[in-house]
Amino acid sequence: MMFSTRFTETFGITHPIVQGGMQWVGRAELAAAVANGGGLGLITALTQPTPEGLAAEIARCRELTDRPFGVNLTILPTIDPVPYDEYRDAIVASGVTVVETAGSNPAPHMPFFKEHGVKVIHKCTSVRHAVKAENVGVDAISIDGFECAGHPGEDDIPGLVLIPAAAAKISIPLIASGGFADGRGLAAALALGADGVNMGTRFLCTRESPVHQRVKERVVEATELDTELIFRTLRNTSRVASNAVSRETVETLSAKGIFEDVRHLVNGKRGRGVYELGDIDAGVWSVGLSQGLIHEIPSATELVGRIVDEAEEVIRAQFERIFARAELR
Ligand code: NAD
Repeated sequence: MMFSTRFTETFGITHPIVQGGMQWVGRAELAAAVANGGGLGLITALTQPTPEGLAAEIARCRELTDRPFGVNLTILPTIDPVPYDEYRDAIVASGVTVVETAGSNPAPHMPFFKEHGVKVIHKCTSVRHAVKAENVGVDAISIDGFECAGHPGEDDIPGLVLIPAAAAKISIPLIASGGFADGRGLAAALALGADGVNMGTRFLCTRESPVHQRVKERVVEATELDTELIFRTLRNTSRVASNAVSRETVETLSAKGIFEDVRHLVNGKRGRGVYELGDIDAGVWSVGLSQGLIHEIPSATELVGRIVDEAEEVIRAQFERIFARAELR
């Protein structure tokens, strides 16, 4: 089955499915696997320690797929300063033509990306930021509901309201993000006015995902109840897996702690250890509420087409059944 949407048409992607730009996870193997399935795979820029490392990762991805893929560039508070402009230059110099910006206003980067023919998807968590991004010339919006992994913003609006609210206010392609893991989700997103879905946690838990098997098993075991929201008091909220480290972070900051009190707990290098060593209690690691919908570890390449087929089944067969019942009454 093929769904043609404004997103697939504008970006030249077969299926309306984007792989979330996950820190420590968005590496060449996963981005290429998603691209090979017909979705938009994303390499996460800051997972690479230097802009040169990012250029090498992009080259490695090209060896694994001949389909288009993109790069996620997230601009949020970090412990060590990040040379964002150099990462941006490396993306363009590598010939990548799709960038997902996230975390802050993309305006300072737009002239450079436009000049080099790069299409920009801006991921944001509020309608007002989506409208602002459309006004500064981005090509698509990825609207990220409160269900999402990582940074959901501070408004706490779930997708069921956020997606149609955004669809009513913007005219460029809209990707629904946060809480999506299967074909029912894709069908729902399309019904809410989106042109596709972005999925992070679902792709984290696939065979090609470059994280330890134990992390994937934990996602399968966990339910929608097993996340924590850290950094609420700092207005840099992040949804992460519930474990002793994330609970200690919440408790410390709730008792009027400052970032310095939790820096040793939340350092991304500890989170990286979780993914690489499989010790799921070693640090904080991002995961979304959608883990409650994830029950197995499929191939990312196969998953893309499977979700589209499932969505078709939901839209066609389920609604046919509903209409047939209504006619019998
Ligand atoms: P890091 O080790 O620099 O920081 C760890 C965490 O602390 C991050 O969430 C960061 O935003 C937060 N942080 C750092 N300094 C802060 C401060 N002064 N006040 C409040 N919070 C602060 O980050 P990392 O793990 O190496 O990740 C690199 C970048 O990717 C960060 O910007 C991070 O936020 C982002 N990220 C995004 C997602 C997501 O939304 N999908 C997930 C993981 C990381």
